[in-house]
Formats: sequence, structure tokens, C-alpha cells
Amino acid sequence: MYNARAHIDPEGLYQSEGLREFEIIAVFALEWRNPNVLARTRDAIEIRFPDVVDADRELLVLITPNDMELRLPDMAWTTGYGGPTPTSELWKRTPVSALTKSDVHGWLRKLDTSMKRRLRRCKYCEKRFIAARMHGRACHGCSSKHEGVVY
Ligand SMILES: [Zn+2]
Repeated sequence: MYNARAHIDPEGLYQSEGLREFEIIAVFALEWRNPNVLARTRDAIEIRFPDVVDADRELLVLITPNDMELRLPDMAWTTGYGGPTPTSELWKRTPVSALTKSDVHGWLRKLDTSMKRRLRRCKYCEKRFIAARMHGRACHGCSSKHEGVVY
């Protein structure tokens, strides 16, 4: 195996001779697509993969010693109707035990497909957005510009 530890523990905080099972799952995930972000604590690895069309739209994978969580991009409103902040919603949780590389890549492809199916086209700019970034049939940017909606 190439120097996998450098990828899943970039700060070198969790040294060990070999890789823990959930770290191996993270290595498999990183072979699928280069991530935007990898964040590490001792017992959790969060990987955010860019969408190939819109790098700001991220697929999130959270891997712990027990589970691999696949999460779709979402939005939270932190002040009622304003203060939008990117979040994620759970799409699938699967135990890490017995997951093969092909399973991990299969789930990631399904996650990608699921996100694409959920995208909606803006009637003004015709770009595609997740539902949380739409106001009716317009994206947030266009609904502000063309419909006077204030966020
Ligand atoms: Zn738009």
C-alpha cells in the first residue's frame, strides 16, 4: 500500500504501525475521487468530495470505527429565514465491517447519482441546484435578482 497514512492522517496525529479498519475504508474512498476537504479526529474521518459539475456542491462521507455515513448537501437557516449555512443530510449509513473497495466505490457512485437526481433547474439561469438552494423554481441568486426575495 502506498503511504496511505499521509492521506488519511495528514497532520500525523494518530500514528500506528498499520491501518485501522475504518482508516482502510477512508483510503478506498479517497481512491474514488480527490476530496475538497479531509478532516480527522482519532475516531472519525470526514471527507467532502466535490461534485464534478459544481465543486461547491459537496458529497460528504463520515467514517467512524462503526459506520460509513454517506451524506448529501443541504442548507440550514441559522436565523429563521436567513443566515444560510451549508450542512448535510444523511442518505445512507452502512457498517464498515466487511466493506470492500468495490462496495465503497459502489456506494459513492450511488450517492453521486442520488444527488444529481435531486437537483432542480433554475428557470432564470438554468443552472442546477439542490432543493435547499431554490426558492420555488428560481435559485436563491436569481430569486433575489428577479423576484426581490431577500435572504
Ligand atoms: Zn438562477
